[in-house]
Amino acid sequence: MKEFEFSAPTTIAEAVALLAGGARPLAGGTDLIVQMREGRRAVGHVVDVKRIPELTAVTPMPDGGISIGAALSVTRMAAHPALARYPAIVESGRMIGSYQIQNRASIGGNVCNAAPSADAIPALICLGAQAAIAGPQGRRTEPVEALFERPGRTRLAESELLLAIVLPPPPARSAAKYLRFTPRREMDIAVAGAGTWLRRDERGVVTEARVALASVAPTPIRAPLAERRLVGEIPSAALLDEAGILAAQDARPISDTRGSAGYRQELVRVLTRRALADCCAQFGSPVDVA
Ligand SMILES: Cc1cc2nc3c(=O)[nH]c(=O)nc-3n(C[C@H](O)[C@H](O)[C@H](O)COP(=O)(O)OP(=O)(O)OC[C@H]3O[C@@H](n4cnc5c(N)ncnc54)[C@H](O)[C@@H]3O)c2cc1C
Repeated sequence: MKEFEFSAPTTIAEAVALLAGGARPLAGGTDLIVQMREGRRAVGHVVDVKRIPELTAVTPMPDGGISIGAALSVTRMAAHPALARYPAIVESGRMIGSYQIQNRASIGGNVCNAAPSADAIPALICLGAQAAIAGPQGRRTEPVEALFERPGRTRLAESELLLAIVLPPPPARSAAKYLRFTPRREMDIAVAGAGTWLRRDERGVVTEARVALASVAPTPIRAPLAERRLVGEIPSAALLDEAGILAAQDARPISDTRGSAGYRQELVRVLTRRALADCCAQFGSPVDVA
């Protein structure tokens, strides 16, 4: 690996100033260091952001939601009691690599690496997560869903730092689930992934639905056809089947060494249906799907 300069600031202002000068942020380094070592990224100056207290804090928000520091390790995030209300986030974080990787890897790094296959992103999109961002012009907030430009590239400016992922409080009668398919049980990249989120009224009618897909487009995407079909209905096996078929139509996969486009669409169909069934089981209204 080529030599690089290394800084470890303790304030956001210092980090942003370094980024504006061309440095790149490092959280756990499980993507960045691998890319630098393999010569896929040339970085002359690395800024470790883990010593900035705000970037590793879990903070309750005034609306009842929580803010998760962008550089907090998945292991620490998963162990935090405030995350117990967001099982889909903990579960999807726990899919990243191995325990050793999770001890380093952050949810912010997973988002900023912008891989279409990133496992934490569909659940974040489903739960309506916002990204808190700091840059030379100050702070701003964007929906996580709007952050992705293309594989490996977010819409953050080079001088901007992701501070935190902010989750709204989970509404009553809502449930989320992320499922992925990998040929190996772990330490593998999703061939396809599907996250689902349902909110129901007192009668069990779906009032809001979100379906977010991984590894089937240049960026993580929503599945609007499937979402629209679910709203206004009481979930049944037939409805979840239909939603799976529509999600497969929403997908825009390519064929590569890990799977053909057709195989990925079939995976989306099955994973979406199963993730939706899991949401129904969380409501205590199981729907029997294959
Ligand atoms: C063996 C192995 C297995 C893996 N398995 C999986 C898996 O199953 N699923 C999966 O989704 N991923 C997997 N990954 C990829 C990786 O572990 C995750 O994407 C992880 O969440 C990255 O987090 P990090 O903190 O290590 O990011 P880093 O490597 O530190 O950073 C990643 C990118 O984000 C940028 N960045 C980091 N923090 C910020 C910030 N605060 N603001 C702006 N930009 C920032 C960096 O500059 C870099 O471009 C695996 C990696 C390895 C090595």
